[in-house]
Amino acid sequence: MPRILILGANFAGIAAARAIPASASLDVTVVDRSASFEWIPNIHELISRRRTTASLRVDRRRMVRKAGHRFVRAEVRELDPARGIAVTDTGRELRFDACIVATGGVHDDFGVRGAARHAMPFKSVADCDAIGKRLAELARQATRRVAAATSQGTPSKARTSSRSAGQPRTSFTVAIVGGGIEGIECLGEVLRSYGDHQALCVHVIEAAGQLLAGAPRVVDRAVRAHCAPYPVNFHMNTRVTAVTHTGVGLAGKGRPRALLAADIVIWNGGARPSSVLARAGLAGGPRQWAPVTTTLQSRRFPNVFVAGDAAALPRPISKQAYFALQMGAHAGRSAARFVEGLRPRAFHPAPKPMLIAFGELDTFLVGRKSVLAGTALALVKEGLLHATLAQLDPPTDTDAALALGRRAVAALRAAALPELLSIERLLRLPGIRVLR
Ligand SMILES: Cc1cc2nc3c(=O)[nH]c(=O)nc-3n(C[C@H](O)[C@H](O)[C@H](O)COP(=O)(O)OP(=O)(O)OC[C@H]3O[C@@H](n4cnc5c(N)ncnc54)[C@H](O)[C@@H]3O)c2cc1C
Repeated sequence: MPRILILGANFAGIAAARAIPASASLDVTVVDRSASFEWIPNIHELISRRRTTASLRVDRRRMVRKAGHRFVRAEVRELDPARGIAVTDTGRELRFDACIVATGGVHDDFGVRGAARHAMPFKSVADCDAIGKRLAELARQATRRVAAATSQGTPSKARTSSRSAGQPRTSFTVAIVGGGIEGIECLGEVLRSYGDHQALCVHVIEAAGQLLAGAPRVVDRAVRAHCAPYPVNFHMNTRVTAVTHTGVGLAGKGRPRALLAADIVIWNGGARPSSVLARAGLAGGPRQWAPVTTTLQSRRFPNVFVAGDAAALPRPISKQAYFALQMGAHAGRSAARFVEGLRPRAFHPAPKPMLIAFGELDTFLVGRKSVLAGTALALVKEGLLHATLAQLDPPTDTDAALALGRRAVAALRAAALPELLSIERLLRLPGIRVLR
């Protein structure tokens, strides 16, 4: 019986599993190191405790079983495409005729000194949950310090951009490294929860000259305008050179090297590929994504399909969950054709507008030609979450049906999905502005 192995079971991997029909003549195994599927696009909301960890996790074994396949929870250490074998951390060998590699990316601190020890990554449900807890603790401590300073008659140094020796330590300083989508969504949630905190001070450090590089400049301007009433400092064209337990070292063109005090450093700096890619010979080096052909087949091994963030397409596309879903489904269908001796078809990505949440201050919808903004767009993001989860985890029993019922109600309330496809309809939502 032909065997297909799916390595990685988040967006691309689960979409691949669902695209391969359960069949008595095909053996499909899905392997992932962790037990829960994670809905990454909303993890920033864990920072403000607006969302719970449980609401962003789904049991993987159940999802894979519903697709009619076998789930193995294990870390794949070695992948040998030529021999068609994957070896797990427990030494188990998983054999395949075709493999779909959907390993995504891992947190990358670019080897900045001290970052691994002192900066908090922003890549998973657990990461953002930890950040949310730490922020809450820091806010409580700062509140107590401000109260103590006030009762002693010491003027509060709240909302200063940095602390200096001898200054009462009242400030609650958050450094956000990276001003891309993740950094801006993180900033939005910090302001949602602590924007009114007397002692809050935020620094956003970005290596590029623009926030949300890649999006039209108008979004950068809108974010800054929203931040004007808050103690937010943007450090553009600036690199973080080191992280310590008291702050970050900064360097940049035209600015002196500086040390910035911070109580917490949140790292949104980037992602690199899983080491499996290079070890399997799918990528040329440890920092390279796996090059694929238009059919999503590895350039070196035609029996390996690469989908989602792990893949480097001939015409690059952004590393987004909706592309991972499309690629995963395509790779699933193609792998099934491949093991039947049929030719895989070319993948044509269908671009969708990008939704960027900015706490309760705004949400941006960035399309190819237009940019819309308005808090009502948050409902579209909410609708996408519920509708996509309902597709990936459809009901098969009463509990799941109840869960789907709740999601469907939420999605209906959001009245979101059809609107997403039509700018004209979106414009009818209350308070929507056309930024471009
Ligand atoms: C903070 C943040 C916010 C984001 N917001 C958005 C957004 O708003 N909209 C959007 O479209 N995209 C967003 N993205 C991007 C989106 O999350 C990714 O594009 C998407 O997760 C990629 O899906 P994937 O399936 O390729 O990889 P992943 O989701 O990274 O999944 C990879 C899976 O492979 C498993 N795995 C890896 N290596 C091994 C191994 N050796 N053995 C076993 N298992 C392994 C992992 O455990 C994981 O489950 C965001 C990303 C981040 C970090």
